Amino acid sequence: MSELHKFIFEGLPVRGMLVRLTDSWQEVLTRRADAADAFPAPVRALLGEMAAAGVLMQSNLRFDGALVLQMFGDGPVKLAVAEVQDDLAFRVTAKVVGEVADSARLEAMLNVHGQGRCAITLDPKSRRPGQQPYQGVVALHGDQREPLQHLGEVLEHYMLQSEQLDTRLILAADDNVAAGLLIQRLPVQGEGNLQGAQRNEDLIGLDESFNRLSLLAGTLTREELLTLDADTILRRLFWEEPLRRFPALRDDSGPRFACSCSRERVGSMLKSLGRPEIDGIIAEQGRVEISCDFCGLKYHFDPVDVGGLFTPPGQQAPGSTATH
Ligand SMILES: [Zn+2]
Repeated sequence: MSELHKFIFEGLPVRGMLVRLTDSWQEVLTRRADAADAFPAPVRALLGEMAAAGVLMQSNLRFDGALVLQMFGDGPVKLAVAEVQDDLAFRVTAKVVGEVADSARLEAMLNVHGQGRCAITLDPKSRRPGQQPYQGVVALHGDQREPLQHLGEVLEHYMLQSEQLDTRLILAADDNVAAGLLIQRLPVQGEGNLQGAQRNEDLIGLDESFNRLSLLAGTLTREELLTLDADTILRRLFWEEPLRRFPALRDDSGPRFACSCSRERVGSMLKSLGRPEIDGIIAEQGRVEISCDFCGLKYHFDPVDVGGLFTPPGQQAPGSTATH
């Protein structure tokens, strides 16, 4: 069962979270499995890690809206997206053009020419008119311009830059499980925001308890993260530490797959393409078929549906339906 575990270390300025996506992650892959453009194994693993990371970051920030994690690539993976709502519902997709080798890691998938980027967007639920969502962007290389091969390292960089907080993020995914462990230094409670931010920055890399717990977390292997349950992992890593756990989030309050696509949204997307474009498709194929990139659901629009889309509501014959 998919679940999220939160914990703190009593008396130490460090918190942590462990996520395991199982049934929900398998559902994502099953929906895509029969598609002609099913994802290659390394892309599936990347998307699983992005889903796990997105859930961890969303519940860490407790942001009132969607957290969207996007990777923009200059290799065969052009785009990979994980979107996590504030109720921990998530969905993922990717756009792949060309071959991805079985052994491909981050650089070979997304950063062949050093132009790969990772963007984290916070899209508030109720946006004021004109308000832009907040977005932070990091490159896919380290301080010495060395290409990073693991998503966890990229996001550790992001959190250091955006929040001045030391973070350790360990991610792994296969076709059964997508999992992640996050350990983070707690922000300093300054008297003013500015002062707190400055003290946070001064403390980067220097907090002994964070450094110790981060080292312990780093001993977790990919195999262990994928195969062991949360209790076993946390006991093995932190048995000597003052770990205090909170009730796990699962089922309706935990991480789960859900897609927010709808016929109405597909309809307005078609409308934005313009009538000539849509009429062209109808002439060629008899109808328009759009499948959702996230969940694989197919939406069909026949000539009558399309007519309805482009007819202002006032001009429709009584009883006609425009967007069913
Ligand atoms: Zn969908």
